[in-house]
Amino acid sequence: MAKLTVCGGGNAAHVLVALAASAGWEVDVFAPLADEAQRLQAGVAARGGIVARTRNSQVMGTPRRISAEPGDVIPGSQLILMALPAFAHGQTLAAIADHLDRSAAIGAMPARSGFDFQVHSLFKGSQSLTFFGMQTLPWACRIKHYGQEVDILGSKAAVDIASVPADQIETVIDQLAFIPDVEFTPTGSLLTMTLANTGQLIHPGIMYGLCQGRERDTFPSEQIPLFYQGVDDFTASVLQAMSDEVQSVADAVAASVPVVNRSEVPSLFEWLLRAYPLTISDSSTLGRAFVTNTSYAGLRVPTRLADGSAETFTVDFRARYLSEDVPFGLVVLRGIAELAGVITPMIDRVILWAQEQLGRSYLENGRLTGKDLAETRAPQAYGITRIEQLV
Ligand code: NAD
Repeated sequence: MAKLTVCGGGNAAHVLVALAASAGWEVDVFAPLADEAQRLQAGVAARGGIVARTRNSQVMGTPRRISAEPGDVIPGSQLILMALPAFAHGQTLAAIADHLDRSAAIGAMPARSGFDFQVHSLFKGSQSLTFFGMQTLPWACRIKHYGQEVDILGSKAAVDIASVPADQIETVIDQLAFIPDVEFTPTGSLLTMTLANTGQLIHPGIMYGLCQGRERDTFPSEQIPLFYQGVDDFTASVLQAMSDEVQSVADAVAASVPVVNRSEVPSLFEWLLRAYPLTISDSSTLGRAFVTNTSYAGLRVPTRLADGSAETFTVDFRARYLSEDVPFGLVVLRGIAELAGVITPMIDRVILWAQEQLGRSYLENGRLTGKDLAETRAPQAYGITRIEQLV
């Protein structure tokens, strides 16, 4: 039986265990965070496996072993799937590196930006391994009972995917056949996916548009601002400017680096209309397309309880919209722009604001030389100084 190891113990990991084990894979789980391995074991033992449920169907799959020790679960795995936020990729790759089989394929779901730079820096010389990344997670999903049940709230019809080496992509897609109803669409390269990553524009861009100047505001729960439906003219102009800057970066990179397929980097507006063909009722402008997209309805700005309060909320700047999408998104893009010699005034503005909220320094005096740059996946964090070195 082919063996797959899922790294992580969150929502997506639950879905993967259920789908892969029920499709006949021998599934192990590597869950080193806190007491997740024990909690998963307890849940699986109580229920007999993990149930993944959609509106009309359900499958149950039982993992063979769950461990916080990589040596227990990684050896013998043909496929390793990291269902993790990008800030956990580095430590996970470092933990599993010494236990990998020579021909294993290791995938990031989703890749976010700069996954290829990180992999190259950790594994250069390991010619036989395959690494791949997805542009997004195939599902919206939430755990219902830890270790027992997860709800698949929606599935993407198509998900972009790229691998290093690039010629392994069809083999990877064949291995992912246990994921039903999702078409994996090969993209030229992980570098193209980084340029086409729209989350790194949308999440920090809307956070900046809606929250700058209101950083310390507090809200009763019913007045927490809507996120996508809250996109006003100013926020739409921020998003448009960021998207225009990405288009200039993509032009410059595609002219120097052949693995970037320019047509695979659409503008934000084109992407939005293509991703949500049925749920946007007014596509007259970028802003209206966000506001009238029913797939986004009701989602609010991330918040936490305000200090000392039991009922009012304040914006949560540690949420992934900034903590994942800035160091593993926008800063990577900014680094590529710097190598391509393209100026990005709006992206700079958003990074400068976001890094202040995160208590970090990435961009300083117009250069990526901040003291915290090493925790990002900007090419400069890996010593890449020329555009030709991006591949
Ligand atoms: P999650 O928060 O449910 O789980 C994340 C898991 O990552 C944790 O349970 C833990 O096992 C692991 N992890 C987190 N921090 C870690 C650390 N420091 N070291 C080691 N392991 C760590 O996340 P999820 O919902 O499964 O999402 C996974 C990825 O997919 C994230 O990047 C998320 O933004 C993205 N995503 C999720 C959804 C969704 O609906 N769940 C939709 C789109 C994208």
